[in-house]
Amino acid sequence: MAEKVVEIENLVKRYKELVALDHLNLTVGQGEVFGLLGPNGSGKTTAINCILALLHFDKGSVKVFGKEMQPNLYEVKKQIGVVLQNVAVFEELTVQENIEYFCGLYIQDKGVRKQYVEEAVAFSGLEDFRKFYPKKLSGGLLRRLNIACGIAHKPKLIILDEPTVAVDPQSRNRILEGIQELNRQGATIIYTSHYMEEVEQICSRIAILDKGRCIAAGTKEELKSMIKMGEKIHVEAAGLQPSQLEGIRGLRHVYQVEEQDGMLEIRCSGGKHNLVHILDYFARQEIPFGRVYSELPTLNDVFLEITGKELRDSVG
Ligand code: ADP
Ligand code: MG
Repeated sequence: MAEKVVEIENLVKRYKELVALDHLNLTVGQGEVFGLLGPNGSGKTTAINCILALLHFDKGSVKVFGKEMQPNLYEVKKQIGVVLQNVAVFEELTVQENIEYFCGLYIQDKGVRKQYVEEAVAFSGLEDFRKFYPKKLSGGLLRRLNIACGIAHKPKLIILDEPTVAVDPQSRNRILEGIQELNRQGATIIYTSHYMEEVEQICSRIAILDKGRCIAAGTKEELKSMIKMGEKIHVEAAGLQPSQLEGIRGLRHVYQVEEQDGMLEIRCSGGKHNLVHILDYFARQEIPFGRVYSELPTLNDVFLEITGKELRDSVG
């Protein structure tokens, strides 16, 4: 792996009896877009707060840029840009003034600051809203302002905690593209979300969290190859005989068949010609069928196989 930007070892964080982080281990390499994916309450924000030394933890260690993280480790903190889950901007300041304020905490040189603020305004697409006060902005624009304030000083490590929650699709795409652009410009990114599609779209590596533990980590391809399911085939067919269902279950690579509302859901492990074998069976048995489609595993399937519950359901 490239140089390590964040190393978390055996991190334990309790809130009284509740164990929010349960021996969490994570490593983020330079240049990654690292995704922390997990349902609400799985510990994503707690992990971020520990990385930033905003929280005391009970056990373990957190290193950022090779240094043990401390609340007063300003040389490291200067290199980090944070976009917190709850929007944190000043209501009394305009869009432009907010970005200037946050940038000014890090960048003393006036000329450089002016240029960085301009770049952040353009980057977030806030040119037409410079003079607006935050309360006049839509949810999506407010998020974009929140991001602009977090990244204007060009930090080497950018941490974004669920920056797309309750955001319209247009702003969401803009935000996701923006994160990829920041990464192309050289920033390492840590991105938390409970939306598996987003994490798949932009992250080079992903850690799946559940109940404060990392249950799996790797590229999306690696994660998907960890599970039994290789393909899920749907066939629209009603009124199959029990013996025919058994026949499908007995086909090579098929390990689970479920029927619901006239749709069969057939899970197959690996194999390349599952669909052909299944339709061949339907033809031989002269079973009429309608729509047919095949799906590759999603991160939801990974979560489901490892934890026994749906990522979507537990998001709430
Ligand atoms: P996520 O960001 O993945 O939704 P959190 O890190 O916010 O998860 O929360 C992890 C667990 O810790 C949850 O069960 C949550 O209720 C609990 N928790 C978070 N913050 C506090 C706190 N300040 N006091 C007590 N419990 C907390
Ligand atoms: Mg959170």
